[in-house]
Amino acid sequence: MDRPGVTRIAVIGAGLAGLTIARDLSDCAEVSVFEKSSGVGGRMATRYAGDFEFDHGAQFFTAHSAAFREFLAPLIAAGTVAPWLARFAEFHGPEINASRTWTPDYPHYVGVPRMNAVGRALAAGLDIRLSARVLAAEFDRDRWSLEVETDGGRESLDGFDWLIVTAPLTQSVALLGHVGGLAAAVGSRAMLGCYALMLGFAEMPRPGFDAALVREADISWISVNSSKPGRKAPATMLIHATNRWADANMDSDQDRVQAHMLSEVSRVAGIDANAAVHKSLHRWRFANLPQQSGPPCYLSSEHRLGVAGDWWVRGRVEAAFQSARALTERFPRA
Ligand SMILES: Cc1cc2nc3c(=O)[nH]c(=O)nc-3n(C[C@H](O)[C@H](O)[C@H](O)COP(=O)(O)OP(=O)(O)OC[C@H]3O[C@@H](n4cnc5c(N)ncnc54)[C@H](O)[C@@H]3O)c2cc1C
Repeated sequence: MDRPGVTRIAVIGAGLAGLTIARDLSDCAEVSVFEKSSGVGGRMATRYAGDFEFDHGAQFFTAHSAAFREFLAPLIAAGTVAPWLARFAEFHGPEINASRTWTPDYPHYVGVPRMNAVGRALAAGLDIRLSARVLAAEFDRDRWSLEVETDGGRESLDGFDWLIVTAPLTQSVALLGHVGGLAAAVGSRAMLGCYALMLGFAEMPRPGFDAALVREADISWISVNSSKPGRKAPATMLIHATNRWADANMDSDQDRVQAHMLSEVSRVAGIDANAAVHKSLHRWRFANLPQQSGPPCYLSSEHRLGVAGDWWVRGRVEAAFQSARALTERFPRA
């Protein structure tokens, strides 16, 4: 694997930021991606339960910048990304106070046939090691070495010229906060938690919308997941808690969390959520964060370390791309 004269880069994380960086830098370096999960895509995630499928992380994404629209163009052309023309409602408690249908003029994109299709498409042709959690990283004599936990045990890997980390904030700082002023660059920013409640129905309730933003409740979002383009039956709904309620209940009994979210979605949407034949809960400890000021990434040529991810900018898919692209544009190519 060691080719003399070729820059070797280790990237931690195969979410949108890590995959973007790996693709951008593959033209000037030998890039290896390490991902702790068994699949790619990070928080652009899909959960399977029998015949049911749920996008339980990112729900949709928008593209404001020309660079992100250009990045998406081949994915749209291939049918891997498509606009979701949802009937959208805004709730204040149980009252709908605005509604409209999303149109292609201002696209709300999703992965097709599921959100994790985006990561899978971007991963094609890259050297990615799945189920490989980086436990520790050390910089010595201009080279990085990694301690990696895999299904087969622990492995030590060395000889990387650069290390680029795209794990969520808390995990990135835990791994590398001691290096080169990274902790100071991160400052006081902090990620917020979320819960995803996944409901599968034998017979779909008809809530009268496909996607809903909710205020004045402990849930912030309800979607008819199966209304997104290319989804197969059976019918599914996905509910997110507010960040505030999730953080206040992060270590609460999970059955009680699920019961409360079931009661909130029933109250707000006027459906019997308990009629679902599949009910499950996912806890996101590090889901998102509001708009940040400051640099969009961290790059130290002295320590040969880069750190990128949505959390430098905002908890959004496009922000993960912006942070990643900012890093690769600053990266010192030979
Ligand atoms: C509940 C929820 C709802 C959301 N809704 C929206 C939305 O509607 N619209 C929108 O635009 N955005 C939304 N987001 C945010 C969006 O998903 C993220 O902004 C984006 O996916 C972040 O990409 P990333 O590559 O920066 O990070 P991630 O996708 O988190 O990727 C980081 C990767 O690093 C891996 N990793 C971490 N530590 C290690 C380690 N030690 N070793 C190896 N691998 C490691 C992780 O497994 C992960 O795959 C939502 C997120 C959540 C959780």
